[in-house]
Amino acid sequence: MTDTRRALVLFSGGQDSTTCLVWALQRYAHVETIGFTYGQRHLVELDCRVPVREQLRQQFPHWAHRLGADHLIDLSLLGQISDTALTDERQIEMKAGGLPNTFVPGRNLLFFNFAAVIAHRRSLSVMVGGMCETDFSGYPDCRDNTLKALQVAISLGLDAPMTIDTPLMWLDKAQTWALAEQLGGEPLIELVVEHTHTCYLGDRRQRHAWGYGCGMCPACDLRRNGYDTWLDGGMGVATDSRDTDLDSESAFTPFADTNVDPGAGR
Ligand code: ZN
Repeated sequence: MTDTRRALVLFSGGQDSTTCLVWALQRYAHVETIGFTYGQRHLVELDCRVPVREQLRQQFPHWAHRLGADHLIDLSLLGQISDTALTDERQIEMKAGGLPNTFVPGRNLLFFNFAAVIAHRRSLSVMVGGMCETDFSGYPDCRDNTLKALQVAISLGLDAPMTIDTPLMWLDKAQTWALAEQLGGEPLIELVVEHTHTCYLGDRRQRHAWGYGCGMCPACDLRRNGYDTWLDGGMGVATDSRDTDLDSESAFTPFADTNVDPGAGR
């Protein structure tokens, strides 16, 4: 049965947030999307947002009427208040304490607060994000308790009920693939493979069974391992086993030009 509430999905164009978007479309009567630009080194993932929305409309017409407006918000001020490898020309490395230096402290808190203002204005009372404790890299603002506390703070601050849904919170990457299959079958798996983006290096020249990417960065590792585990577990069927190197000259340059989006809705 459809939940009559209206939802806003934090949507980056990655695998996780695309799965969240479909999860919300199946569940809620009306769903809008929001994305943020904040001076990322490149915008490959954001470039996937419009095609993914368009493909969802075309391939899943029973959800099309639920998919509402898209909001793209300029948060370039993040570059002014943070100092990380995400937006600077620096290499990714692990810092003491186990957090990669790509971490923008509290970024998801900011995203949700800005999203809440728009949600309130648009009469949307649910926010959906792809945060996950299972595969997370130690980001405290992805934790379940952080987001539960934020839900309470935002609801009090707006004096209106605001639910934060995180359908991937306790799933690993294999289970996220399985969820996509459960929600939209083989066509959705193919859509995720072909149109979403995960690779830290923004590489869309090499096409693998699990999607585009350099195949060697941590994000590609996670996505590939999840895909393989999902297939091996008999949870799904291979839709396309092509593993095509579209550019034989491409070589892995570790973290040379990197866009990491570790937290909000990959
Ligand atoms: Zn990669």
